[in-house]
Amino acid sequence: MADFAIALHGGAGTIIKEKMTIKKEKAYKKILSQALKKGYSILEKKGKANDAVQAAIMVMENSPLFNAGKGSVFSAEGTHEMEASIMDGKTRQAGSVAMITGVKNPISLARAVMEQSPHVFLVGESALKLAKSLNLKMEKAAYFHDEFRYQQWQEIRGSEKFQLDHSAKKNQNLGTVGCVALDQQGDLAAATSTGGMTNKQSGRIGDSSILGAGNYAHNKTCAVSCTGYGEYFIRSVAAYDVSCLMEFKGLSLKEACQEVIHQRVLELGGSGGLIAIDRRGHIEMPFNTEGMYRACQSSTGKNELAIYKD
Ligand code: ASP
Repeated sequence: MADFAIALHGGAGTIIKEKMTIKKEKAYKKILSQALKKGYSILEKKGKANDAVQAAIMVMENSPLFNAGKGSVFSAEGTHEMEASIMDGKTRQAGSVAMITGVKNPISLARAVMEQSPHVFLVGESALKLAKSLNLKMEKAAYFHDEFRYQQWQEIRGSEKFQLDHSAKKNQNLGTVGCVALDQQGDLAAATSTGGMTNKQSGRIGDSSILGAGNYAHNKTCAVSCTGYGEYFIRSVAAYDVSCLMEFKGLSLKEACQEVIHQRVLELGGSGGLIAIDRRGHIEMPFNTEGMYRACQSSTGKNELAIYKD
């Protein structure tokens, strides 16, 4: 049996133990572990990395605890504008969607763009048209509404501010979701899905749907999914940079991840983290914030689920 592995995140930000209740922590861990299991069991049965990352993301999109799919944050207009992307490390085919409303699982739409459209990135109406033509599950606005996140928006509504959902004053517990995997065929994949940032301007697109910024996979190097203040991840082309540092500078996965998160993104003033996996199944999950919801499992015995710094 060839080695295989999976890692996922549920967002990075001001996630502090003192501000978390035992009940909430348990709830987060439960979904993270469900998502991990879902993805891992696909890999275990020799399934594809693409399928594993999509399935794991869908578990988190279906939970209101995370800022993706159900429970996405509110834009300045009080709407949900979601985005997602998926990339296949073997073929380097990819699909991205942004400015999505009403689609239950934006990651499925990104996958559809990758496999059933001649394009790589579709936004708004044209993406929705594809979703409808493929009969992807749609939901009314009420499905995506989460009271907690609504209150979070109320706090900064009407201001120029926009913020990471998990960095809000009262709420430390929401997040963009991402997943990376290595399957038994030696193929890598990365997927990321988000509601973006609270009170963002309508039309603002973050790093999660931008290939190379918040999501990237290449069998030669690694698969990466980022979370954090998207503007900085876009400007530092963070996910691709991890891959580049490995490919062109010969860094290990660990060294490349450290350099991107603790130097390059930080230098610009960006906060956040990423999860990454290389073709040998090594996993890294660095972040420069107080916490990051994260979990990983590998066929070589690695099994971790954590939220805070240590
Ligand atoms: N990176 C996401 C964005 O900027 C937010 C997050 O990771 O929570 O849209």
